[in-house]
Amino acid sequence: MPSLSESEQPTTGAQWALLGAVTYAALQGGIGSGEGSAPSLPDPNLERLWRSLLVEFNALHLDRVRARLGEQLPDELFELHWGRESSWHAEFMARSYERLRQDLDTPVTPQRLEQIVARERYWGGLHFLAAARRARAITAHYQLRITDPRSDVEGGAIWRISPLKRTHTADCLAANGRAFTWRILRFYNPANRHPECGCTLHGTLGVRVRLEDRPPEGMAPGFDIGEITPPTLFHFTDVPSASELLAGMR
Ligand SMILES: [Zn+2]
Repeated sequence: MPSLSESEQPTTGAQWALLGAVTYAALQGGIGSGEGSAPSLPDPNLERLWRSLLVEFNALHLDRVRARLGEQLPDELFELHWGRESSWHAEFMARSYERLRQDLDTPVTPQRLEQIVARERYWGGLHFLAAARRARAITAHYQLRITDPRSDVEGGAIWRISPLKRTHTADCLAANGRAFTWRILRFYNPANRHPECGCTLHGTLGVRVRLEDRPPEGMAPGFDIGEITPPTLFHFTDVPSASELLAGMR
C-alpha cells in the first residue's frame, strides 16, 4: 500500500487517504466486490473517477474472466490461474492509483480529469483484454490436454502462428509448425507469450509428429499452465467392457 505523506499534499491529504482506503478495501474484499461497498467520496470528481475505474471495469470484465476460468478449469487449476490474475489485477490497480495520486496531487480542471479517466480506462481495457485472452488460451490448452488420452505422459501439441496476423515475434516464428511435449508447453505456450499473440496449439492425435522436449532457441519462459490430471472419463481402463455393461443391464 503506497503511503501518503501529509507534507506532500497538505490540502488534499484527507481525500487521498479516503480514496486510498476505499481502493485497498475493495481490492482486499475481493475483485468486483460491488458498488454498494464503496463509501461516497467528498469530492464529486473523485467519486466519478472512482466509479468509472473500479465499478465498471471490475464488475464487467474481470468477473467474466473469473467465470470462464471457473467454469472450464478444475478447482486446482482455477485457483492457480485466478490467483495469478487477481494478483496482477491488484498490481495494476496499485499502479493506476499511483498515477492518479500523482496527477491529482494539484487541483485539475474537469476537462483534464476527463482525460485522466479516459487514459486509465484505456489502460484498464488493455489490461482486461489481455486477461481475457489468457483465460481463453489457458482453457483451450486444458481442453486440448484432456482430450488427448496420452496427456502428460507422451502427449504434446503443434504450435501454429495465426494466419490472420501480419507480424509475429521471433520466438513464435521459431515455434511455428513444431510439436512440443506438454512438459515444455506448460511453460512456453501462446497464453504467456505477448499481447496480441494469435498463436494456437493443435492436438497431435492421429498425426505422426516428432515431439520436441526443448523450447525454441531464445524463448523466455512464461508462467506454468499447471499440472493436469485427466478426468476419470479419459482413463480408458475405467471404461467398463461391453460384457460388464450388458451384465449391469440385466
Ligand atoms: Zn505469438
